[in-house]
Amino acid sequence: GYNKVLEENRKLYNQVQDLKGNIRVYCRIRPFLPGQENNVTSVDYTDEETVAIIIPTKSGREGRKASMFNKVFGPSATQEEVFSDTQPLIRTVLDGFNVCIFACGQTGAGKTYTLTGPDDLKPDTMGVSYRALNDLFNISEERKNLMNYEISINMVEIYNDEIRDLLVEDGTSKILDIVNGSKKGINLPDANRIPVSSTDDVINLMNLCRKNRAMNDHSSRSHSFLTVHVFGKDVTLGTTIRGCMHLVDLAGNEKLDNPDDEATHIQKSISALGDVLVALANKSSRVPYKTCKLTQLLQEALGNQPKILMFVHVHPDIEEAGETLSTFKFVERFSTVEGGAGKSSDVRELKEQICYLKAALAKKEAGDP
Ligand code: ADP
Ligand code: MG
Repeated sequence: GYNKVLEENRKLYNQVQDLKGNIRVYCRIRPFLPGQENNVTSVDYTDEETVAIIIPTKSGREGRKASMFNKVFGPSATQEEVFSDTQPLIRTVLDGFNVCIFACGQTGAGKTYTLTGPDDLKPDTMGVSYRALNDLFNISEERKNLMNYEISINMVEIYNDEIRDLLVEDGTSKILDIVNGSKKGINLPDANRIPVSSTDDVINLMNLCRKNRAMNDHSSRSHSFLTVHVFGKDVTLGTTIRGCMHLVDLAGNEKLDNPDDEATHIQKSISALGDVLVALANKSSRVPYKTCKLTQLLQEALGNQPKILMFVHVHPDIEEAGETLSTFKFVERFSTVEGGAGKSSDVRELKEQICYLKAALAKKEAGDP
């Protein structure tokens, strides 16, 4: 049956994950947009793992190197390239894993572009969320003789430490409460959760969500969550599994000269998330989830065999170098990548293991003992 495949798959996957730790950190450098071609850049990326930032100083220019990334995507990286690296990890939701994908960086650095895409969405420019769901639909179809999957999504935003539903028709929604510890793993019982089975379903719901976000006029100052719930039932044994994936578009973490309430909430919640990720990276037994709604909402997923992925976004303009450095400071704390020579061989090993895993799964699914 499927359970044995699952068990073996899990074991292998955990081995792969242990190679690099459970937190993978990617850097994506935004290109200059049309009309900005003559702007000066602060970014130089020498290889697939290192970014150099040039900072203007009174006495000239100073350079800083950051090498805490599993991989760096340059300005010409396509949406497909960015997604393909994360695909094996995302698929584990169907095996009952919890996956948390974050986009961080200052406003305008490309967070929404990575997770969702530009406003005039085309198949080429679809972001990680669409591609991830599409992948889940395809695989659940492939496995339909073994497993019966139900996939549903909810979308909320957190603004000033209050959670509101984004999947509402009339733009009005009440404040939602978190109930952690329910058997079904749904910690926002009052949020609208809608079954989805095609990319078109997802596009429609995302559009509704974008409309609601735009109406609020604080879209870049709130954290937005797309949460995918997966329930699977073994066709022969009747046993069930569930997995959950959060795709979190974090609020812009830029520093303001005169921080207001809104900015204070953002700073507090992002640094609370940092503390949680540090605790997880260190495999600490005490993880400080309670600090704010952002971390409370993630508690169930992060507390249970999580696969964590952080996309760190970099604005290319030299004017923004200071913000880039403070973004890097945030991720440096929990990045489990160690600099040095061993790194690329680790990555190679990881890739080999992933290939092996894929082959093993395909074999098992084809009915090979
Ligand atoms: P953020 O969500 O971090 O505030 P956005 O994703 O809205 O930033 O990006 C700001 C602008 O830059 C948008 O117009 C977006 O379409 C564009 N953009 C961001 N990243 C890319 C990219 N990799 N390629 C092309 N355009 C991009
Ligand atoms: Mg955005």
